[in-house]
Amino acid sequence: MLVMTIRSSIRYLLAPVIISAVVGLFAQAFPAAGAGAGPVITKARVGAHGEITRFVIEADRAFPYRIFILTNPYRVVVDLPEVSWRAEPPKLNAAAGLVANYRYGLFRPGNSRVVIDVNTPVAIERHFFLASGTAQAPGQRFVLDIRGITPVAFGTTPKSIASPKWKAPAPERAAKPATPPPPRRKGDRRVVMIDPGHGGVDPGAIGRTGIFEKHITFKVAKAVKRKLEATGRYRVLLTRNRDVYVSLRRRFKRAEDAAAELFVSLHADTIKNRKIRGASVYTLSEKSSDKEAEALATKENRADVIAGVDLSTQSDDVASILISLRQRNTMDESAHFARFLVKQLARNISLLRNTHRFAGFAVLKSPDVPSVLVELGYLSNRKEEKLLRSKKFRQRVALSILRAADQYFKRKERLNRS
Ligand SMILES: [Zn+2]
Repeated sequence: MLVMTIRSSIRYLLAPVIISAVVGLFAQAFPAAGAGAGPVITKARVGAHGEITRFVIEADRAFPYRIFILTNPYRVVVDLPEVSWRAEPPKLNAAAGLVANYRYGLFRPGNSRVVIDVNTPVAIERHFFLASGTAQAPGQRFVLDIRGITPVAFGTTPKSIASPKWKAPAPERAAKPATPPPPRRKGDRRVVMIDPGHGGVDPGAIGRTGIFEKHITFKVAKAVKRKLEATGRYRVLLTRNRDVYVSLRRRFKRAEDAAAELFVSLHADTIKNRKIRGASVYTLSEKSSDKEAEALATKENRADVIAGVDLSTQSDDVASILISLRQRNTMDESAHFARFLVKQLARNISLLRNTHRFAGFAVLKSPDVPSVLVELGYLSNRKEEKLLRSKKFRQRVALSILRAADQYFKRKERLNRS
């Protein structure tokens, strides 16, 4: 009984007091916001200690933070200021105690994030800093203890706590109301939006050597930008210009805001059968072309969940595919571009059979911007993983996209659609 009381007091009273004391003490050490000035993370680990699973971050200094718990599926999210993460990435299988896996990365500028997948409903038991390190290199150890609870108990347990100095990051800017883009004048460069899949706290697929899809897609996107812009005919924008999470909705909104005439989302997949390799091209559809395409769309549409976003508070689910009349014409245009792209890719890289497939990809949902998603290949295939990391491959993809875009816009001009 006594133990229980102490435990509860620690949970509900002492912990916040300790936190405010610690945070207060180190308040002066907090850096001004800005890249490079943030705390340095040197290690992260998970350990099971009886009923408690402990998540630990070793840092060079204390930092303000926020912890919250999400459901569907159960996740514990730790928000931090923008940190530089020098710790080893979590092992492919970082499971321990109640933790199935965890990942980290930039969630938005000024806000790094750790997302911890848990197997059951959990309660936040304790969270505090401990002095660590050595006299030469003093550090601060952030400790978060979680405990498994029943779904009933979960209903009344606190889902969110923040240290006193935590400042909520600015919410995502609401999308601008759709205004029709100014008519394009002859000779204007065509605007193309390239979308490097995943980013920040969402690594995407993980390759055989541990490489992240998000890094591959970013490098390819930059190669495509260089290639298209070198012709003088295109202005190419990227949906992200650094390793940061961007929601699926914001990706296509950015294309609309920029009055882009094409949107190309770049991805790379993994699959159980390690022999399978080759690229494929996808466009939006209510009905999937096949089971594989449907499964792939489901996987890619999980990006927001992976990044620790609470979808239950969003008014409309971006992943639900309802196609408007306006979208039909855009979908036809997307299919034309996909056809050109498949032909060009076939000359330069290996392709899957039935290369052009369709399914309900949330990132392709713009009603106005013709959009395709390219799966560049499989990171689960040893040869293809190596290829996907090569400059030669990036050049081939860039050339294919350039040629397909040229064909697509030629056709558009021929049909007098400006
Ligand atoms: Zn992907």
